Amino acid sequence: MPDAEGKFRARLEGMEHPLQAWRDTLEELGVMGLIREAAAEPLPVAPLAPRIPAPAPLPRPVPPRSAPAAYTPPADPAACPNPAVVATATSLAELHQTIAGCLACPLGPGRMKFVFGEGDPHARLMFVGEGPGRDEDLQGRPFVGKAGELLDKMIGALGMKREETYIANVVKCRPPDNRLPTADEAHACLGYLRRQIELVQPAVIVTLGATPLRELLGVSEGITRVRGQWRHVKVGDRDIPVMPTFHPAYVLRQYTQDVRRAVWEDLRAAKAWMDRPPES
Ligand code: SF4
Repeated sequence: MPDAEGKFRARLEGMEHPLQAWRDTLEELGVMGLIREAAAEPLPVAPLAPRIPAPAPLPRPVPPRSAPAAYTPPADPAACPNPAVVATATSLAELHQTIAGCLACPLGPGRMKFVFGEGDPHARLMFVGEGPGRDEDLQGRPFVGKAGELLDKMIGALGMKREETYIANVVKCRPPDNRLPTADEAHACLGYLRRQIELVQPAVIVTLGATPLRELLGVSEGITRVRGQWRHVKVGDRDIPVMPTFHPAYVLRQYTQDVRRAVWEDLRAAKAWMDRPPES
């Protein structure tokens, strides 16, 4: 019976160039004689390399303090809806129709789709985010990307469906490069959000992230300091309680137990307020 090296040599003898040349080279190097011994030994197992931690997520681009270039909105009334008409829209559908062609700020010309907002027009729980991202811009719906999936899960954990809530953003058009809206952009758009809130008349609002905190509530402190603390916003003749919490995109970037627990506590507080028995 030929041994292992004999079999290996016999197989190589039957091979043609270029494997023959490879065999010759192995023999020249003196490796052929080592094959049997080497094959009998267990293969060395490389030690596991230490796990390299994932790189820290990149922070979201901060908007410029002032607009890089002056933006002149078109003179067309459809591109700059009259605030008086906006304030008197009698339904969400009418409001949507009134502002869908808005080009009042620099975000308008760059959008793919206008993201008005969606949900139950009489929702008791309303979410207000910052602005559309790439997926929202493509679909014309708020919170439909990864952050939206997380928001849907959180709403589900509260025992509710997304369709039972109303979801909108401070700005209706996507800021470029996924940056936050500038103060000027937010101010140009805020009247639309305020009219949405007036029409929906939610029992409680949950703001997601720093932009609604700053623009809707006028709070300049950071979201990390303010989240979980009740605030109020006066819209029309109503004073609506507001629970500020982290944006789901932030939760995804900082997926720690502390951040998730904080958001969960904020949402539960908002739901508990919403479900409280009416005062007699
Ligand atoms: S972000 Fe708001 S104000 Fe700016 S163009 Fe869009 S709808 Fe108009």
